[in-house]
Amino acid sequence: MNHPVTWSGVASDAEARTGVMTTPHGDVHTPNFMAVGTRGTVKALDTEDLDGLGAEIVLANTYHLMLRPGDDVIFGFGGLHDFMSWNGPILTDSGGYQVLSLDPVVNEDAVVFRSTYDGARVELSPEKSIAVQESLGSDIAMVLDVPVNLPASRSATERAMLHTLRWAERSKAARSRSDRALFGIVQGGTDVDLRAISAKETADIGFSGFGIGGLAVGETRTERSSAITAVVPELPPSAVRYVMGLGDTEGILDAVSRGVDLFDCVLPTRIARHGKALTRDGDLSMKRAEWVRDSSPIEDECPCVACRRYSRGYIRHLVNTHELLASRLLTLHNLTYTYKLMEDIRSSIDSGSFESFRCEVVARRRQGLGHRNS
Ligand SMILES: [Zn+2]
Repeated sequence: MNHPVTWSGVASDAEARTGVMTTPHGDVHTPNFMAVGTRGTVKALDTEDLDGLGAEIVLANTYHLMLRPGDDVIFGFGGLHDFMSWNGPILTDSGGYQVLSLDPVVNEDAVVFRSTYDGARVELSPEKSIAVQESLGSDIAMVLDVPVNLPASRSATERAMLHTLRWAERSKAARSRSDRALFGIVQGGTDVDLRAISAKETADIGFSGFGIGGLAVGETRTERSSAITAVVPELPPSAVRYVMGLGDTEGILDAVSRGVDLFDCVLPTRIARHGKALTRDGDLSMKRAEWVRDSSPIEDECPCVACRRYSRGYIRHLVNTHELLASRLLTLHNLTYTYKLMEDIRSSIDSGSFESFRCEVVARRRQGLGHRNS
């Protein structure tokens, strides 16, 4: 059997672990974070920016790309790597999560919904999702999972979880490219028993990595932690563990402490476009009047271009006048913050000091937030 994506451990500190995920387009040091390039672009950045930021992998959305410009068009360019001129690893989601907001009809065979672009009826089956992701040529494809609208009853959650297992088998059977990897997705909502069953059964189907889906959707931190804790022991230790859609500092630190390797989230890039900066002292709104004459950078020790060259006062001005540069600078800053967080997480695990690092980060952010709210 071909293993286009493998993971091997480097160090561990309690449950937290570092490792290297090899892919057809290069290595990814874990724990790591994937910036979201919804339509084949991380909004406000180009791929040279991503190189400069040290991004090791990006995520792209199957749903959006299959509708615009169409996976056949991208295939004609030699795949998504060539189309978007990014030579690093790409993970594509399966499209299941995106259709949640489109009031989809889910039947045994497929999920049916109306396109956000032109209202056309679109059918997405496990086989179709795999075919699209193979046309895109992503290094890692995700199985199509069954979307559940929240809040969901236990029986609805269980039905969707079992349905996802059947689709995981179909997704695996539909693969035609042995040079690309496919990850399973664990579901089960906030029910720890369903989570454990889903993890075990998905692991039995056999994948080199596992998404833990259906989290970061409004559950409490305790519910999320319990769900992750129920899943991890059921997965093979050599497989990648990926919490889908999670990207806040405290959430990442908690998941890493439970053995998670990979994350993605629109948060750093989305809040950048809303004028917010992530900092070690908490999130900072750059719109505020108090920055108007402030000549200091967003963060003193940050190596990003926004902090090296520009003042809070200037960035506030750009945000409040809706200049494009505001989005660009804050996106660069927020991703610099996030990649630095992941790098610090890895080195603290390697040196056996993850727990004290985590406490320090959380305490400093809490103190900063408290200071600003007082
Ligand atoms: Zn910065």
